Amino acid sequence: MKRTIVEVILALALIGAGAFGWTNWKQNQAATGQVTALKAASEEAAKAAADTAGAVKAAETEMAALREEMAPLEGKVQQLDAVKAAMANGTTLADLEAAYKSQKNLSAERQVGLGALRMLTKGAEDPAAMEAFRKALQMSELGDRKNTICAAQIGLAAAGEKVAVMAECLPKGAKAAGDKEEKAAHGDTHAKDDGHDHGDSHAKDDGHGKPGDKKEPEKHAAHWSYDGEMGPAHWGKEFPTCAKGKSQSPLDIRGPFVKARVVVTADYKEGPLKMINNGHTIQVNVVPGSKLRIDGVAHELLQFHFHRPSEEKIDGKPMAMVVHFVHKNAEGKLAVLGVLLKEGNENPGIKTLWANMPTEEGPEVAPEGVNFNPANLLPREFDYYSYEGSLTTPPCTEGVRFFILKTTVNVAKEQVNSFPFKVNARPVQALNGREILAN
Ligand SMILES: [Zn+2]
Repeated sequence: MKRTIVEVILALALIGAGAFGWTNWKQNQAATGQVTALKAASEEAAKAAADTAGAVKAAETEMAALREEMAPLEGKVQQLDAVKAAMANGTTLADLEAAYKSQKNLSAERQVGLGALRMLTKGAEDPAAMEAFRKALQMSELGDRKNTICAAQIGLAAAGEKVAVMAECLPKGAKAAGDKEEKAAHGDTHAKDDGHDHGDSHAKDDGHGKPGDKKEPEKHAAHWSYDGEMGPAHWGKEFPTCAKGKSQSPLDIRGPFVKARVVVTADYKEGPLKMINNGHTIQVNVVPGSKLRIDGVAHELLQFHFHRPSEEKIDGKPMAMVVHFVHKNAEGKLAVLGVLLKEGNENPGIKTLWANMPTEEGPEVAPEGVNFNPANLLPREFDYYSYEGSLTTPPCTEGVRFFILKTTVNVAKEQVNSFPFKVNARPVQALNGREILAN
């Protein structure tokens, strides 16, 4: 019996101990759970804090970089304020407008200047400033007017106008609004990446500062050439249409042809000679009045320029050179007349041009007393090949109608050799199902 009692007590003690142990374990378990949860929460909090610290740090670094970038701008802002104050009474604007009043056609650059001055004097809402920028933009659409286009687009954008500023106009790293392809209206047959009016030479030696080159003054974001890293195969990186477009120029012209029925005639007039070496070609800027008529519809000749060898090939063969006459009609549609130059006798028209051409890249030159009639470069016969294509230089905008004359014009070998660009021709592009017409 004694033994039984001991056993019972022992058993009870054991049960008691067990119960105690279990309770203890249960409590511990709950506490551990709480600790684990707390630990996870605190770890998370620590991580969040670290992240926040990281973000703060990044923001601080960015702010510091921005401050550094802003520093030189502050000086500019002060200067601008000073200029603004000086303009505020409107006398300068009145003087300028009086001076311009006698001039019938202001150049695009002057329109931009006028717009900028109006903006400084009368504020960003001044409709006449907008008008001046818009005029400048219209006038600059073709030819060597990249800087003017940029200035006018930036001017309009600054005034809150809905205008697509070309990526090339923005400082490095900035993103174009919408970042869509440029419209034909902002296109530029030889959209220069390097303006002639501030004369920073980029030339072919790629002497421009790399992004991040802080010491260098801001150079143009856009840059292209006919060979190497900036050559035609790479144009698409900065100018998407050049790579993605399905109606690109130039073409290798070969049959079968669709019968062309459009009548094309040139009505070119003599005018003062204005030439520019824009680093990509020799371009002759033409005063208004010369027209190409396509089924009677007038297309104003804006400029003509040269490629060596010819960009277009006939049955796979290029000619020594080609002249591209660039026109635009009232709706803004572009048409290019191509005249192939074949090695042969000396060309008297080219003789005049070459005698006056700037052999180095630089601003437009207008030799005094020299007139030129673009008709001097045309053959008598006007049979042509025709197709829908694009600008053959960045931004490679499409919607350009091409007429390549079947009859070639002579150019002497020496004349070809003295053209300052050894190769400035884009390779032929895929036809992509386009029809080539011929009459
Ligand atoms: Zn061309």
